[in-house]
Order: sequence, then structure tokens, then C-alpha cells
Amino acid sequence: MAAAVVTTAHDFRRACQEARTDGELALVPTMGFLHAGHQSLIEAAARRAPTVAATIFVNPAQFGPGEDLARYPRDMPGDLKKCEEAGANLVFAPESASAIYPSGFQTYVEPGALAAPLCGEKRPGHFRGVCTVVAKLFALSRADAAFFGEKDFQQLRVIERMARDLNLATEVIGRPIVREKDGLALSSRNAYLSSEERSRAIALWRSLAAVRNAFRGGEQDATRLEELARTTLSESGLRIDYAEVREPVELQHLPRAEAASRLFLAAFAGKTRLIDNGALGENG
Ligand code: AMP
Repeated sequence: MAAAVVTTAHDFRRACQEARTDGELALVPTMGFLHAGHQSLIEAAARRAPTVAATIFVNPAQFGPGEDLARYPRDMPGDLKKCEEAGANLVFAPESASAIYPSGFQTYVEPGALAAPLCGEKRPGHFRGVCTVVAKLFALSRADAAFFGEKDFQQLRVIERMARDLNLATEVIGRPIVREKDGLALSSRNAYLSSEERSRAIALWRSLAAVRNAFRGGEQDATRLEELARTTLSESGLRIDYAEVREPVELQHLPRAEAASRLFLAAFAGKTRLIDNGALGENG
């Protein structure tokens, strides 16, 4: 069925209000250039609620200076098709940033300790921008549930905590990472990769596999596991942004890794920054 498309905050609020009279509403926030990872979130949302609202908005507030805001890939016709295929009935696609941040906008959501390490440290202000736009989408939609990928595991934790700390009524639900056949996590940013960078990018997955192997073999020293991850990444010519083992709830360092501990990776293939993560005790 064709999805209804709205482009203003006012129309999105109204469409969600109407939809909620028919039962639950599930929300899937995205920045567009959709792939099977996004579609898995929409499909999960469709299993939860009769109305699924997907949002497509490249949120300037979560990009730092010098990041890829201006060249972030876009494909609105393709995105609408993928939304509909996966089961979204409503799509909110603001045509400009001012639909979300009108002139005079000045109120931001400031996340705490969960947003400090990893991507929070490397991309100052990133999670403040994420939390602000997600809080606005929750407020406009008053969704019963919202779906996020574990691909951005720290983001998932930060949003869960925001919803809890601010008593937001939307349930935050995490979903597993969707990968290419060779293990590379799907990402809109993979479109930037040259074929040479694409083959190097697989080192993220290889690094995760190597660390899981070592862990299964009895290595629990977090520092040694991190060294192994770093070696695997740099041997393939990726520039490491971080490679850290942390526990999965507060994202703290533990000297001894456990099965639920996760390896968090960020690395550059050329100019393209890629992230990945996974639990050490899981089979990849
Ligand atoms: P983005 O468009 O990159 O902001 O992502 C929108 C949502 O899709 C976020 O909740 C991401 O975590 C999720 N997502 C992105 N890539 C994947 C993937 N490969 N598997 C599962 N979820 C994903």
C-alpha cells in the first residue's frame, strides 16, 4: 500500500494523532538512503503496530564541522519505495532543516555519561543532536514504540536512557545488525567507498571475528583483546578511530571481558568513517 508522505511537523503530528485512534503507532527514525538494515527496523515495527511511521531527515544538529553533512547520500524516490516495501504507512520527510529547527530554535537535550566515550568523545555534540531530534520525533508522533539498530549501539543506549530519564512515553526497542554476505555492516555511508576501500572495510568484521575467537580461546584481558582488534584493523590499512571493549549497559571499561562485553570499533577507510560492534560471546 502507498504510504502517506508528510513534510511539515504540523502535518506529521496530525497524521500520527489520527493513526493512533486505530491502535498503536511505531516509529522508525532514519537519515534516509535506506538499505535492508533500515527495512528490518520497519518490518519489526510493522509486526508491533498497525501504523508505522518512518522518518527521513538528515539531522544537521548531529554532524560536526568538517563531517559529511553536505555530501550525505540522498534518494527520496528510492527511500519511499523501500519504506512501502517494508510496511511503513506514513513517511515524514521534512524538505529542509527549518521544518525541524525553525528560526529561534534554542533548546537541546544534553545526554550524560553514556554519551561521553566512543562516538561521543570522537564526535563532540553528536549525541546532543541525536537526542534533540529523537525527542522532537517522539513528541510529534507520541509513538508507542520506536525502533533503533544495534549498529549504533551507543546511540541505542543513549536514547533508552533519555526516554527513561525524561519519562518519555515511547518504548525504545533495539534490533540486531544487518550485514552483507561477507560481514560488512550495512550503512548508508558504504556508498562512499571505492572498490578498494570496500575490500579494506571488511577488516571491521574480521577484527570482530578475531577478538571473538580469542575470547572463546580463553583470552579475557580487555587490553589484549583491544590490541588484537587494533592490529587487525591497521594491517588492512584502516585508520583507527577507536577499538574498545566495554560492558553493554553503562558502556564502562572492565579489565576482564565477559561474554556480554562488546567490542566497539570505528575506523576510516579513506575519508569514510565506519563503525561496528558486537558481543564477544556471540557467534558472528
Ligand atoms: P541512520 O539512517 O544511519 O541514522 O540509521 C537509522 C536507524 O537504522 C538507526 O537506528 C540505525 O542504528 C539503524 N541501522 C543502520 N544500519 C543498520 C544495520 N546495518 N542493521 C540494523 N540497523 C541499522
